Amino acid sequence: MLPPFQASPCRFVGLSDCGRVRANNEDAIAIANELGLAVLADGMGGYNAGEVASAMAADEVVRALRTALPGVTSPEGLDQAVRASVAQANQAVWQAAAEHPQYRGMGTTLVLLLLDGAEACIAHVGDSRAYRLRNGRLQPLTRDHSVVQEQVEAGLVTPERARHLPYRNLLTHALGVESTVQPDLARHAVEPGDLYLLCSDGLHDMLSDEEITALLLRSATPGDAARALVDAANAAGGQDNISIILAQCTPDPAHRSEKCPR
Ligand code: CA
Repeated sequence: MLPPFQASPCRFVGLSDCGRVRANNEDAIAIANELGLAVLADGMGGYNAGEVASAMAADEVVRALRTALPGVTSPEGLDQAVRASVAQANQAVWQAAAEHPQYRGMGTTLVLLLLDGAEACIAHVGDSRAYRLRNGRLQPLTRDHSVVQEQVEAGLVTPERARHLPYRNLLTHALGVESTVQPDLARHAVEPGDLYLLCSDGLHDMLSDEEITALLLRSATPGDAARALVDAANAAGGQDNISIILAQCTPDPAHRSEKCPR
């Protein structure tokens, strides 16, 4: 039996910007430092429905995990709690869309990062991403649920060209558009100095991974880095809403041997 879930003592920094083209910001970010939890969602739908979907999804995930995490005592329990939180968010958005004609067809992406003493748990649906900067290298930790991602994997387009295709935002999975959704979920061992980045496509469509890496390495603090990334995405056109969450963490060695056997 492991000790109850303990949030990592790491601090999150979040920034959400409308960009230079869109009238509304349909992205939502939610940070619960006491839970070691950050959630980022990128909504879609007519009128203000995208904003409703993304805010509802982010809030529901935080609410569900706030209730569930104190009772979690195993990695499997953590996975279950995360999956249940995404299911609860999906249900809330799906139901609101079914009950209110103005919200019909709304949906959202979702990416969440949950940090305990030793591990980063990441779950996602759609094309909002998680990355990790370690030893100067930026590594994607999620795989977009999008049509272009499938084409990249089939060798039909290069990743660089994929960023510029007009249908790059076409998703294969989204939250709230069907009665159930299966998020991808992964856990990674945290190393000292790791920097985690969550972002919406308004960042990764505007900047290459190399440009993102350079800006992260050049910034003195996560707060400076978030500002620099938003400014660079806007300088590159700001064609969509830009949202970023950064977390720099120090793992707790006491947890490592139990939770991340090597
Ligand atoms: Ca977007």
